[in-house]
Amino acid sequence: MKRFVYADNAATTKMDIEAFEAMKPYLLQKYGNVSQLYSFAREPQKAIQEARETIASCIGALPEEIYFTSGGTESDNWAIKGSAFQHSGHRATITTAFEHHAILRACEAIERLGYPVAYMWPDKCGTVSPNILEQYITDETLLVSVMYANNEIGSIQPIKELCAVAHAYGALFHTDAVQAVGHIDVDVNDIGVDMLSASAHKFNGAKGVGFLFIRKGTPMSAYVDGGAQEHGLRAGTENVAGIVSMAVALKRNVDVLHQNQQHVLSLEKKLINGLNAAKIPFTKNGGKNTLPGIINLSFPKADGEAILHRLDLMGIAISTGSACNSQNTEISHVLKAIRLEESLAKGTIRISLGKENSEDDVDAILTGLKKILA
Ligand code: PLP
Repeated sequence: MKRFVYADNAATTKMDIEAFEAMKPYLLQKYGNVSQLYSFAREPQKAIQEARETIASCIGALPEEIYFTSGGTESDNWAIKGSAFQHSGHRATITTAFEHHAILRACEAIERLGYPVAYMWPDKCGTVSPNILEQYITDETLLVSVMYANNEIGSIQPIKELCAVAHAYGALFHTDAVQAVGHIDVDVNDIGVDMLSASAHKFNGAKGVGFLFIRKGTPMSAYVDGGAQEHGLRAGTENVAGIVSMAVALKRNVDVLHQNQQHVLSLEKKLINGLNAAKIPFTKNGGKNTLPGIINLSFPKADGEAILHRLDLMGIAISTGSACNSQNTEISHVLKAIRLEESLAKGTIRISLGKENSEDDVDAILTGLKKILA
């Protein structure tokens, strides 16, 4: 059988086996509805409470500050819309031009309802500095939302400093930490954020489950109307199996976070050294402070989509920063936001390595890239 190399861990990750096993009893035996009063509901009730405590302890929050959702997209939508809808005065939201579409589209939706939104541009390394925020923020700003780390180029943002600026102006601060949680240290009290989004499938949990941290006392509207679940703010029968497995996956990643980081960083170094040794010209996007394992590379005069397809034929899964249609090449909004030259943007790929990857995987990627780019 042809060897398969999965190097698209920023898109999704393989489920942790213990997280998977933890789901099963809540689907097959302990499947009671958490909202019911009979004793059959007690075990799932207890399991959800324990998961809330575990997840809270992994990010320095209180259990009652964790609200379960269907994933990163819902958490982001809730943060943007739920805070805007608290205010009829239409105070402004500030975000960045290179957020995930879950934030950008949610912002466009509130704009259509008359809520003003401003989009900050990152510098060429993909960082939004507190100085940039100072140029946009006023005493009328309601919310600042800046991602913890960018999903395409991996650049980590100065969240603590940005949050301090927002608070100095009386604004709330949300961060989309979907790529960061479970991969780098995240402590909501250290950084001071009011809201934080996370998604289980990015840290070896199941797809379709995530959470929004909402600091106690933060004014927030309900996002999904219906039953009284999640303190009456997010209705819907709880995804007990998904929630339980998310807590197991997060705890297992956080317990060996630095070990995983070292492993992934050593693979990243091997890849970069291999490209240099092969004298393949490239630029690595995202500046110096990037998430371990997210390697965004631009090859001059190359075609990122063609590289993706040729690697795919070799059994290697990566992603690209541009996609061709019959008329032209569509460059991603992230590469546009960092003002990457068009010729480089067209030749951009994202390799995202995770704890499951090995040195052999990197060798296979290098062999593939050498064949394609020689
Ligand atoms: N935010 C970021 C930064 C992401 O990378 C993603 C997923 O790619 C999302 C939000 C959406 O998360 P989900 O797939 O859980 O809806």
